[in-house]
This record gives sequence, C-alpha cells and structure tokens, in this order.
Amino acid sequence: MTDTKTTNQKNKAVYFFSAGQTDGHAGMKNILGGKGANLAEMTSLGLPVPPGFTISTEMCQVFYDNGQKLPDDLKKTVMEALARVEKLLGKKFGDVSSPLLVSVRSGARASMPGMMDTILNLGLNDQTVDGLAKQSNNPRFAWDSYRRFLTMYSNVVMGMNTSLLEVLMEDMKEAKHYKLDTELTADDLKTLVGKYKKQIQESTGRAFPTDPWEQLWGSISAVFRSWNSPRAITYRGLHGYPSSWGTAVNVQSMVFGNMGDSCATGVAFTRNPSTGEKVFFGEFLINAQGEDVVAGIRTPNPLTKQSAAGTGMKSLEELMPKAFTELVEVYKKLESHYRDMQDIEFTIENNKLWMLQTRNGKRTAKAALKIACDMMDEKLIGEDEAILRIAPSSLDQLLHPTLDPKAEKTLLCKGLPASPGGATGQIVFTSEAAVEWNAKGKKTILVRIETSPEDIEGMVNAQGILTTRGGMTSHAAVVARGMGKCCVAGCGDIDVDEHKLEMRVKGYVLKEGDQITLDGGTGEVFLGEVKTIDPELDEYFERIMKLADQKRKLGVRTNADTPNDAKVAKKFGAEGIGLCRTEHMFFASDRIDVMRQMIMADTLEERVEALDQLLPMQKSDFVGLFETMKGYPVTIRLLDPPLHEFLPHTEEEIQELATRLNWNPDRLRTKVRNLKEFNPMLGHRGCRLAITYPEIYQMQVRAIAEAACDVIQKDPKHALIPEIMIPLVGMDGELERLKKQAEEEVEKVQKERGVKFDYMIGTMIELPRAALLADEIAPHAEFFSFGTNDLTQTTLGISRDDAGRFLSTYVTEGLLDADPFASIDQKGVGKLVEMAVQLGRRARPQIKLGVCGEHGGDPNSIQFFHNVGLNYVSCSPYRVPIARLAAAHAALRPNLN
Ligand code: PEP
Ligand code: MG
Repeated sequence: MTDTKTTNQKNKAVYFFSAGQTDGHAGMKNILGGKGANLAEMTSLGLPVPPGFTISTEMCQVFYDNGQKLPDDLKKTVMEALARVEKLLGKKFGDVSSPLLVSVRSGARASMPGMMDTILNLGLNDQTVDGLAKQSNNPRFAWDSYRRFLTMYSNVVMGMNTSLLEVLMEDMKEAKHYKLDTELTADDLKTLVGKYKKQIQESTGRAFPTDPWEQLWGSISAVFRSWNSPRAITYRGLHGYPSSWGTAVNVQSMVFGNMGDSCATGVAFTRNPSTGEKVFFGEFLINAQGEDVVAGIRTPNPLTKQSAAGTGMKSLEELMPKAFTELVEVYKKLESHYRDMQDIEFTIENNKLWMLQTRNGKRTAKAALKIACDMMDEKLIGEDEAILRIAPSSLDQLLHPTLDPKAEKTLLCKGLPASPGGATGQIVFTSEAAVEWNAKGKKTILVRIETSPEDIEGMVNAQGILTTRGGMTSHAAVVARGMGKCCVAGCGDIDVDEHKLEMRVKGYVLKEGDQITLDGGTGEVFLGEVKTIDPELDEYFERIMKLADQKRKLGVRTNADTPNDAKVAKKFGAEGIGLCRTEHMFFASDRIDVMRQMIMADTLEERVEALDQLLPMQKSDFVGLFETMKGYPVTIRLLDPPLHEFLPHTEEEIQELATRLNWNPDRLRTKVRNLKEFNPMLGHRGCRLAITYPEIYQMQVRAIAEAACDVIQKDPKHALIPEIMIPLVGMDGELERLKKQAEEEVEKVQKERGVKFDYMIGTMIELPRAALLADEIAPHAEFFSFGTNDLTQTTLGISRDDAGRFLSTYVTEGLLDADPFASIDQKGVGKLVEMAVQLGRRARPQIKLGVCGEHGGDPNSIQFFHNVGLNYVSCSPYRVPIARLAAAHAALRPNLN
C-alpha cells in the first residue's frame, strides 16, 4: 500500500467511499488523512460504513491560497459527490420530508486526538427537523440532534463559547427537576433550540444559518481553518508535524446512536492500550451521539461482560448481543487486516452496527512492547517490524519511577487507571497554572473535571493529570497515554470547585498548592507525597531489546561520572563508558576545597601540593569505575571547564569561604577577578589548561594509571584498556604535546608499579577547526569522540548556556526544525562530523569513532550517526535503552535521512 501521489499525476479533490465505489485506500494517508484513508479501506473490506467522501489534504492549501475561501470548482465537486450519496440513500440534502444529514470531520495524516473539530447532524433547520422527526418517528431524537448541531456549529464555525448554551440547558433541567439530559422531552428540546438560536444571535451578532449549503461550506472552511488553530499548532509542534501537511475533510452520511434505547455509540481498542493485554476493550453509551464518549460527559459502560463484572453496569455484550457479536467479528477482521492494534469508533442505530473510524491505536510503551511480542508470536509481524513498532523515545515512560508499594499512603479515592506511572505534585486547577508553576520549577498535578484540547499545554507541563469525569477513552486518558504521562481519570468521588480553586474528597478540602500523588497503574489517588521506586523492566522489554541488540551496528556506551551512574547504565545495557567528565568528581564536598587550593596556588610547588592531595581521591574514583565496568572500555576525559567555575562568585560566598579556610579574602577576591572571562566557554578551558598548567593533567593521568595498576594487581584477569581523552583540541601541536606528556606519565607509573597494561589516548572533536583538520589530528589520536555540544555551540555561534532565550522562537516560527542542542543540525554540524569521519579514517583506518554529546541519546541524531559510520554513541544512563533501540531502527531503515 504505497501512496498514490506522483509528481505528474494530478490528484483528485474529492474521493468517494461507499460499498463497491471507493476511490481511496489505507495507503493514501497523505492525501486522505488517516481517517479518510481508513474509511475507504474499511468500505473496501466490506464493513458497514455509512457512505460519504473525503476532500483531500491538498485542498487545505488550496483553501489558504484562495484567501481562506472554498474555490467554486471545489464546491461543484462536493455537490456532485453529495448527489451520489443522496442517490444511494434515497434522501436529499435540505429536503423537508426526507432530509440527508451529514457529519463533517477533520482528519490529518497522523491522528491528532481532539485537535480538530467535528460537526454532526449537519443539514438540520426548522423545516428539516420536522422531516427527521417524521422519518424516525421520534421527535425527541430529532430535536436533540438539532440542539447538538446548534452547539457544535456555533462553537466550531461561529467561534462562540458554548458554555452559554450549556447554562441554558442546565437552567431548563433545574426548572424541570431533571437529573439527566435524557429526561428532556421533545417539547423541552424544541424550546431549548429556540433559546439557543436567540443566544447565538446575541453572542455572535449573526443569525444561525438555516440554509444547509451555507452550513456545509461554513463547516468545511472551519475544518480547514482549525488546522491553524493555536491548539493544533501546539500539538503539531509537540510531535514535529509540519504545517504543510494540511487536513482532509470527511463528509459522511449520518447514522444515529441517539435515536432511542436500541441505539448506542462507542469506542474500542482491539487490545488493552495501557497494558497490551489481548482483550477486547472499550466503552459505549446507550442513546448518545459520537462525541459524548470521548468528551467524557457521561461515564460510559464497558463493552464486555467480563469487564463489566463487579461494576454494577451492564455491558454491550448483554444489552445488544447481536450488534456485539458483529462488532467482535469486525474488530478481528480489522486487526488481522492492519496487523496492528486498532482504535475503533462505532455507532449502533436501531441494533444495526456502523463503523465510523479505525486507526492504529495509541498505547503506552509497556503495551506497545507486549503487543509487538504477542503479534510476533501470533505470526502477524516479523522481528524487524516488531522492533520498528516501538518508538525509541517512548521507552522513557518505562524507565521512570513508580510508587513504592511499601510506602505509607493515605488513599483519598480511586478512579480509572488511564495512563501508568506514579506522579507526585502540587494541585493546580487550570492549565495556565500548570504552565506557570512549571516555569518556576514546581511539580504539579493538573486536576480538571474533564480535559479538552485547550488543556494540552497544561498537561505537558504537569507531572500527572487527574479528572473527575470521563472514561478510559476520554480526552485526558488518550492524550496522557500518548504523552506517556501518568493519568487517573473519572474519579467521581472528587468534587472540584474550579472557582474557589479547591477540591473536596472524603471530608478533606484540598486547595491549590496542596500535595497529592497519583498511581496511574491502579487509578489510586493519595494524600501528600509518596515515595517512588525505580521501575522493573519486564520480559517483553528484555525480548525487544535483545532483538534490537542483534540488529544494531552502533555500540552504545554511557556518559557516567560515578560508579553509581555506571551501575544504572550497565543495568540498562551500556557497553562501556564513552565519557567520564572528571571535573564532576572535583565538585564533591570533600574535594572542592582542595581543588580551590590548587587554583589559588601562586607557585608550582603549591599547586603540586594540592594536586597530590587530589590524586588518591581521583584514583579511588577510577578504581570504582573500572571495577563497575569490568570487561568494557572506559573513556576518561581530562579536566575541561574553566577554573573560575570552581570558585565562589558573590561577595557573600567569597567571605564565607575565606573565613572557613582561613584565607585572605582580598587574595581570594583578586583571584576570582583575574580568572573572570567574558566568554569562558571560548576561554581558558579544555586542553588549554594543560598547556599552561601541565601538572594538572599529569596528576589525572597518574591517577588513571595507578588505578589501572591497582585493579590489575587485584585481578590479573581484568582486561582493562583505559581510554584517556583530551578535550577541546583545535590548534596544531596541542594534542601531540599533551599526548607525549601523558605517555611519559603512564610509562613512569607502569615502571614504578611493575605492571603493564594497554591504554589509548584520543581526543574530542568539538571545535570546527578540529573537524576540518581531522586528518592531521588522527595520526596522534587512537580515537575521536565527537563532543557535539561544543561543536554545535561553536559551529552555530550560539552559546549553549544562553540559547534558551531565543531558540524556541526559531523552532516555533519554523526557522529551525528542532533545537540543535537536542537533535543534531545535520546540515551544518553534521557536515563537519561526516567530514571528520572521512578525514580521520583516511589518515588512520582503524581509528575508533564515537559521539558523547547530548545527541548520543537522541533517536534522530542516532540515525544520522549510524549513517555516517560511527562505531558507537554514548549517552546518559537513562537514555541507554532508547539509544539501543534507535540504533536498531537506524540499522533496519538506513536510508531514512
Ligand atoms: C560536548 O561538548 O559535546 C561534550 C560532551 O562535552 P561537555 O558537554 O562536557 O562540554
Ligand atoms: Mg565539550
């Protein structure tokens, strides 16, 4: 199924779908959007799909190019397509006695839950509503549909805030002493429709359009416009979808789940999207329409008898057994056809099942791993596909802590386990607060009655999400799962007062800022903070990672400065240390003062005296690293940062330190002033320190060599090859000189100790000049490790410490695809890396090449490093599994970039 778009073929504007007359197929997502492509596919599979047509995504651009107006020829094509639907169904659009009603729904290439707007029951007005009432023999249903249409249309097309209409309905329910919407009678709804129209006129200054064609053009335009709504732009930004994609528009004849008690609407997953368990899983509402389930307005019933057990609710299996059996057949057919877990939407009209949507279901990483393994066992997919099904970055969700089962907890209440993981934070009731508090470094739990697409940013900024209404497929649940964020949904025991910014539960009154904890795996909500524990990785994780290791060509090491970091990374599968930043060892409280003493030294003797004190400390660190990483390479980078980083900065700090160490504060102040640099990152740092103070590296090399001797003497079988790495090399002769000094020191130690071991000396490539002259450096370096953090900083001329202020604007305004410090700038920085790889290998074919900048843990960058032929990537411990999987992806689809 490949996309049919070719450069010389002009695509159609409108693609029709109905039994036996379907233009599109599932491979046409780029043109039809995901929803349209799958509607076409389901129709071709012979499934019951109400007929309709899809206006292509290309028309979205045409709409914008035409000054946000629908071109006449497009309108003509739409009218022709609608005439085909009319003929098929024997109804007429706008007809008073037998009106055809349609839905208008958006559909981009990738699913964007809740991002784009939907309009149902289009075609209703004061005349056609009577036709619908007669046709269905159900006036209540007809007026309810009209009321819903007015709500959706006034909101989506006319931009009105619908809470004003909701108030009218609530007032009416109160006046009539009703509890449920379903208690409203046909006459009530008729009165309500009148009130709605008046309110719409009052609020928008425009009358609600009664001409169905005007309604249709307005709705199609609104869908196209919503592609550029702020919330769609936010979502696109979050997922890296380009604005050029556009959205398609699906116009489909209506079927009704709200025509009475033999009608229903629901959503389902063919497997459990939280756990991956192979069970049919979903929810439905009797006598309700499409959006009710997803919006979480009423709490829905479970589909199967098994999942309804103990809930006091009746399942679809029990209430509508015929439609249920048909639905089970459909889902099995869909799953084996798509060979993936499906997320489906259906409506039952008078006991007849209709399919409205299918798509590959969003799932948690845990579920994705289980589903991939199960589908491999079921022979639905092969090993490569199983690996490629898991998004490397999604593994992040599994590597984060969950609540400690042994911790003391005060249970407040229980909701639905909508998205797993544990989260602790301070309560906020609005998205804005979540964003604001996060900017101040505070962790929050976003508590809402229900979430809507406007809450996306708040959800991104909160640690977890708690809702009081809605089910497992509500907006909050679906979006949180997609983000890998902990979410508890439908927690009905909580009473939220959004105005007073407080919530009441079990006699507690909790206010904004109070601490709560969520367990997204059980749905429990606890008072206060609860201790978390590191995650246990299950058999499915292990199985996929093992397969990934077999497929990948890149090695994966870790950046670790302590034996503890190294231990974590090793558990996650790191094959060595690619970067140990030795300066981090000097910041420990028992060392920093000795380091300062070294910096304060005025004479070589004084400096050496301080270095002699640091030597045993460094040595013991290295012994710890070598022992933890037994059997694997360990790359140790010699001191890199400018010395002033170790000194105090403010007058207060200077005074405090001078008093504590009994130093002259004037002397300290002068030293701090002398070491101050305008651009320290371009200043006296890296190997430049050792050019002026050779004794610093001399001490560090001695510590490495002595540590190696200690380890080998203790365990002669320990095959140890320390890799000594010299940073920030750029000028001719730097590496040669420092390498010679290091070799002399290692040999001296070996002689003193009578121990021999192999070692390597290499350099970081983190300056453009080093990359450009890599062939001149390689003869003196046994390995290169690309320091892409500094290489990005120096190539782009953007300070890595100050970039935050303006880079996000570059990204949101499309000047940059991504933050170049997170994902490598392949065009510029990447070109230097590629050049250095080629030059380096030409001069020294056996040279080992790796990367240790932040990009070593970024899946897109890893694809690039694979393509240019590096030997390994090195990243922080928690990103090691992500890198292993991303490296396998890169090997399985090498031509992606
Ligand atoms: C780098 O520059 O990419 C690097 C790994 O070194 P640091 O981040 O310590 O400067
Ligand atoms: Mg660097």
